[in-house]
Amino acid sequence: MISDNIKRIKSEIPDFVTLVAVSKYQSIEDTKAVLDAGVDDLAESKVQDFLKKYEVLGDRPRWHFIGHLQKNKVKYLIGKTFLIHSVDSIELLDTIERESKKQGVVTDVLLQLNLAREDSKSGILIEDLDAVLEALPKYQFVKVKGLMAIGPLTQNNDKIRDIFVELKKIYDRIKGNSVDAVVQMNYLSMGMTDDYTIAIEAGSNMIRVGRKIFS
Ligand SMILES: *Cc1c(COP(=O)(O)O)cnc(C)c1O
Repeated sequence: MISDNIKRIKSEIPDFVTLVAVSKYQSIEDTKAVLDAGVDDLAESKVQDFLKKYEVLGDRPRWHFIGHLQKNKVKYLIGKTFLIHSVDSIELLDTIERESKKQGVVTDVLLQLNLAREDSKSGILIEDLDAVLEALPKYQFVKVKGLMAIGPLTQNNDKIRDIFVELKKIYDRIKGNSVDAVVQMNYLSMGMTDDYTIAIEAGSNMIRVGRKIFS
């Protein structure tokens, strides 16, 4: 049962960790069951699927977008999301800035890092991060609020932990360096069904859980 699964997960995680329910591929009914169980944060990974659910559920949930985002689809998300987790280039930031300005809203985003350097994943490579951070002061309508990463695809918990610890270090470094409101490191989004315990130990304050809620 969805509500039992949520109860179990919530009992395992500290209060300061936000549980984001990944409702991608789930029916409207099951997605509603998550809201009824007291979880307001929902994540979708495809713009089309998000819009279908948004039509029905509107602004009742806090919507998170976690999938790879094409520039030509940005305009459909603006004004509807609480947080876009998957921002991975200056070009995408430029587009979010332009579309947000058009609609007169500020869009909060996370920078997705690809620390494990997996080809299959999007995300900023570590050597490109400084260039992205240097570009941030020019944006008025898009604000970076933290970092996101997907753990490496491996059964090796030490490897997973290493990646999460590295991300936490980068998060803390940026937090320490940001003297004004250009960047506010509020959210460290890491941890999914198989690795959220490790992620929380490493310093995550936002986990994105799908299978463990809906199975
Ligand atoms: C699907 C997905 C999740 C949830 O994964 P589970 O293993 O089902 O918990 C989390 N984050 C991202 C970016 C995803 O695409």
